[in-house]
Amino acid sequence: MLIETHAHLNDKAFEDDRKEVLERSFAAGIGKIVEIACQPSEWQRGEDLCSAWPGKIKCAFGAHPEYTRTLAPGLLESLRGFLGKPCAAALGEAGLDYWWDAGTKEEQLALLNFQLPLCAEFGKPAVFHARNGKTPDKDAYADLLEALKVWSYSPKRRFRGVLHCFSGSWKDARAGLDLGLCLGVNGTFTYKKNDGLRESIKKAGAGNIVLETDCPYLPPQSSRGERNDPSFIPEIAALVASYLGLSNGELADRTTASAFDLFGEF
Ligand SMILES: [Zn+2]
Repeated sequence: MLIETHAHLNDKAFEDDRKEVLERSFAAGIGKIVEIACQPSEWQRGEDLCSAWPGKIKCAFGAHPEYTRTLAPGLLESLRGFLGKPCAAALGEAGLDYWWDAGTKEEQLALLNFQLPLCAEFGKPAVFHARNGKTPDKDAYADLLEALKVWSYSPKRRFRGVLHCFSGSWKDARAGLDLGLCLGVNGTFTYKKNDGLRESIKKAGAGNIVLETDCPYLPPQSSRGERNDPSFIPEIAALVASYLGLSNGELADRTTASAFDLFGEF
């Protein structure tokens, strides 16, 4: 069994065939899916999706840095309400995005720091997003990892989580692993230009990664330009397994164990 740890199935890209996509994905060997509801307008739909697929889908609730400047007031209380629900698997995705003009570093860190205490309050892991900017000084990974290191200095504030869609350097990966985070691996692992990423994932090892698609974005190399969905996970997993010198079964066992360890069994 494989676990899809990061999907945006409530995206409008799935408006016409969501049910078919899910049926196809489960038939392809995806045992469970973590849906990501990362802005207030998605939270209720995230819960509804979990209710429609009991035992199959759980949801992360949070505020993506992309919405730093557009969030409605009263966010905290309603986010608390969703994180307290049985369908809640995690906080997220939350973090820093310097690619889009989403807000200053300070504004984005304020939104992150506003959400981090909820991990301890609700006993949930976090799904972190980091995307570097277009110039080397816009280092979202360095800033996120530093913020998390500072945050976790107090044992009461410890948290677990995943650096989803990992795209940082080996140094970033190492810093994340040192914080107890795992790395989310998706279709970007299969892109021709990503030798550095593949090497970092290999060094991190199969025990420190979870599989994801980030659908509808980032399909594997074979399907660039198409809509992504969770049924691509076996293809991504097979390429990761072969690069790491593992059998498909070994990689499935390791990544599924890590996903359950992080998000809990469901
Ligand atoms: Zn995402």
